[in-house]
Amino acid sequence: MKKGKIFVVGFGPGDREHITKRAIDAMQDSDYIIGYKTYVDLIRHLVTAKSIVSTGMTEEVSRAQEAVRQAESGNIVSVISSGDAGVYGMAGLVYEVLIEKGWTEAEGIGVEIVPGVSAINSCASLLGAPVMHDACTISLSDHLTPWQVIEKRIEAAAMADFVIAFYNPKSGRRTRQIVEAQRILLKYRSPHTPVGLVKSAYRDTQNIILTTLKDMLDHEIGMLTTVVVGNASSFFYDNKIITPRGYQRKYTLGEEKQPLRPHERLRKEAEPWALDQELAAREAGQDQEPVKNKKSSLELAQKAVALLDKVDTSLIVNQPIEEIFEFAVSPGIANKQLTPEQMRCLADVIGKKGTLEYTPDHRFMIKMPTATPAKIVAELEKAGLLVMPVGDVLNLKACDFCYGEKAESIPYADEIASTLSGMKLPKELHIGFNGCGMACYRAVFDDIGIVYRKKKFDLFIGAKPVGRTAHAGQPVAEGIEPDKLIPLLTSLVEEYKENAHPNERLFKYFKRMKKLGHFNYQDVSCKIEIEPAPCGD
Ligand code: SAH
Repeated sequence: MKKGKIFVVGFGPGDREHITKRAIDAMQDSDYIIGYKTYVDLIRHLVTAKSIVSTGMTEEVSRAQEAVRQAESGNIVSVISSGDAGVYGMAGLVYEVLIEKGWTEAEGIGVEIVPGVSAINSCASLLGAPVMHDACTISLSDHLTPWQVIEKRIEAAAMADFVIAFYNPKSGRRTRQIVEAQRILLKYRSPHTPVGLVKSAYRDTQNIILTTLKDMLDHEIGMLTTVVVGNASSFFYDNKIITPRGYQRKYTLGEEKQPLRPHERLRKEAEPWALDQELAAREAGQDQEPVKNKKSSLELAQKAVALLDKVDTSLIVNQPIEEIFEFAVSPGIANKQLTPEQMRCLADVIGKKGTLEYTPDHRFMIKMPTATPAKIVAELEKAGLLVMPVGDVLNLKACDFCYGEKAESIPYADEIASTLSGMKLPKELHIGFNGCGMACYRAVFDDIGIVYRKKKFDLFIGAKPVGRTAHAGQPVAEGIEPDKLIPLLTSLVEEYKENAHPNERLFKYFKRMKKLGHFNYQDVSCKIEIEPAPCGD
């Protein structure tokens, strides 16, 4: 006799467009379709099964048993669930009935679970992008699960700042659960947390309400509603709920908000909060806990759940999420001396949570969490410090002009700084400005080098400052008149800005184009073959 088969089919939210092809094929290939009456009515027009068995809501076990019986007698059967059959659906139940009978995959009837779009996904898509980050589903139905367990899960999810999709939030008889859920959530989350109520997603009676944690109970919530609660960083925008992809966004000076470019996002320094970084900090002795005592995620989760019974929730403060502010500081364009007052000001402003790093560019790189970057800048500037943006911007590095003795050209350096510094470019660009022919601050090793000599300027372009194939810039002009310097630099930088590929450093651009302004490129790179050796090799 031919072996039967059970498909456990999730048919998505309820309209034809969101059912997978595999689900349609499975249902069309079936001799029997078994499901809860409301669901069967939703898909009836799509199938040709010789028998469609619809049952009541509470007859799930008999539905699964009937499916197994029919399959054992050689039929192909689809047991249907809305959404995904493995999410509060029939998949587990069908397996439980089979296991009871000693079924194995090798010898028993065929079983295929056909995945579908679950309510958390369909409802989220109608709300905008509320899920995005770590999320969980919690069913508020306490018919088969003790309320004590559900309550603990809500508490844990609330505490851990998960986005939460509540399934089965309320029915005619179960009305208190959602009230309790709101009460628990409010212990950890702001009353203004965005909440979406989606009723009958992608069905004729679809209804979407945007509300807040505080006001959510003022709206209709029923059996066909999914309640999506945002996390601490979710926000409303244009009738949508958006949860940002990452927790910490970054400020860069000079722009309201500058999200990192894709290639920068995964750099270690961009992720001070990542696990690897934590380990590195521990290894470097910045954290007292030795690495060998590090707990696994499972241990930590178990510890968190164990704590739930005794947790003093008043200790958990709803803190605004701060952003990482990155910038550079120096005592000035020509000045290289920091005063003790400036050092104290830096220490106070940066505090314990920020980091201060001295860089090869004669300046401090600062990274610190803050919600008020403008205030930070104002305080540092008040102390006479020069605050500069970092990243793919134009930077001016000047020498110390032998501490003012060769001061003649300082005004030109200041003017370049005020005209061009901080300009956003395809890649970082350093202009080196040195006050005499000694060029001891190595201007000829910067992307653009300027050397002041005999009241005029020499210009160098296209150094490759680092690497085993590093080389100085090419001398392209000598004796440039002071009044011509800034217009010339501006036009060179504008040309590079307009035409370079993203991430293309000036020397690469010069080499590729063979020309910058009216200067022709000459190959000054190394003539012997040098194996490329990236960092760490
Ligand atoms: N297996 C289903 C869930 C079944 S539990 C799935 O994966 O989606 C039933 C609950 O699912 C409902 O109480 C409601 O909270 C949610 N739900 C299912 N379909 C929905 C829809 N079209 N719109 C909104 N919520 C839905």
